[in-house]
Amino acid sequence: MGFLNWNSGEHFDHRGDCPCTQCGKPTPLRSHDGESVHKVCAEDWNDRTPTAPRFEHEGRDLGTARYHSDPPRKSRKDGAR
Ligand SMILES: [Zn+2]
Repeated sequence: MGFLNWNSGEHFDHRGDCPCTQCGKPTPLRSHDGESVHKVCAEDWNDRTPTAPRFEHEGRDLGTARYHSDPPRKSRKDGAR
């Protein structure tokens, strides 16, 4: 299993910490569904739940439906060279 890509700002909740649904410790991070969870806890859950439904984007496997990586953004650099 790979690491999740959560570079998008949507994963950081500026309103503050909430208890992680996996380990119970506070975290400002949120999954795509708004679930409070550490990135490492989400990766660990994916590792421990290999049968979970997969999330695919344009044919690429980005993780599980519950915890998955940010879909790659369309590059604006195309044609700018
Ligand atoms: Zn956690």
